[in-house]
Amino acid sequence: MNHVKKPDWLKINIGANARYAETKHIVDSHKLHTICSSGRCPNMGECWGKGTATFMIGGEICTRSCKFCNTQTGRPLPLDPEEPTHVAESIQLMKLSHAVITSVDRDDLEDLGAAHWAKTISEIKRLNPETTSEVLIPDFQGRSELIQLVIDARPDIISHNMETVRRISPLVRSAANYETSLKVIKQIADNGITAKSGIMVGLGERPEEVEEVMDDLLAQGCKILTIGQYLQPTHRHYPVAEYITPDQFKLYRTIGLKKGFREVESAPLVRSSYHAEKHIKFKG
Ligand code: SF4
Ligand code: SF4
Repeated sequence: MNHVKKPDWLKINIGANARYAETKHIVDSHKLHTICSSGRCPNMGECWGKGTATFMIGGEICTRSCKFCNTQTGRPLPLDPEEPTHVAESIQLMKLSHAVITSVDRDDLEDLGAAHWAKTISEIKRLNPETTSEVLIPDFQGRSELIQLVIDARPDIISHNMETVRRISPLVRSAANYETSLKVIKQIADNGITAKSGIMVGLGERPEEVEEVMDDLLAQGCKILTIGQYLQPTHRHYPVAEYITPDQFKLYRTIGLKKGFREVESAPLVRSSYHAEKHIKFKG
């Protein structure tokens, strides 16, 4: 199971152009973190080369340790109060029309980082009134008053990933659970904000289990779904059970759209923030 051969459709060109270097310079000079590099995203060549990146706020150390995730785990540093403004300034410098932000989980903080999230969203709006935003949030341990703080900052899209199917969730997610994640999605949708979610496939799930996640998400009011191949970041992480074929990804997209999602982005290299700027048209 540990040595499933990587198929040709996952081989990518990491080519870096001048725009890539510029993106890197802006990120580094503002001492920002991105999930693109900490998650070793296979799309960095494409995204950074187009001048887009997904900022990761709350530092780069997560209090959780999901078995599929490459983010560093441990005791995080105190929050940087300047970070919301630095993120907003970087978005301005990068001239982003659509900004995507995520964070590590901060279970060490009393408010789990919710106020920092809200401040980041309002700083982005203050410095970039024309820029739309998508925020990929943690579960805030299911505490609705904290989720509401983020909702009340009114980003355009709020995303919360289910990560995998119900059965595999407890095997790979640390602390988060399937039911709590569904509740997060429901609260977002109930507040009139476009809810988005994402899963990885290739962890050993069956197609009917993927359909079950789709049904569960739709029942909460989720509108946009991303599906991508799980890639094992290092040999210490959860093993890849299977490389899902491009045809199966297409089939998942067809099924999801038929079931009622406004958009299903489904392909081997899709990540929740991949082509996120395209998703704004499915808002509302
Ligand atoms: Fe970054 Fe998302 Fe693009 Fe990956 S898909 S490089 S995480 S913006
Ligand atoms: Fe990674 Fe899990 Fe932390 Fe999210 S909560 S950054 S998936 S370890």
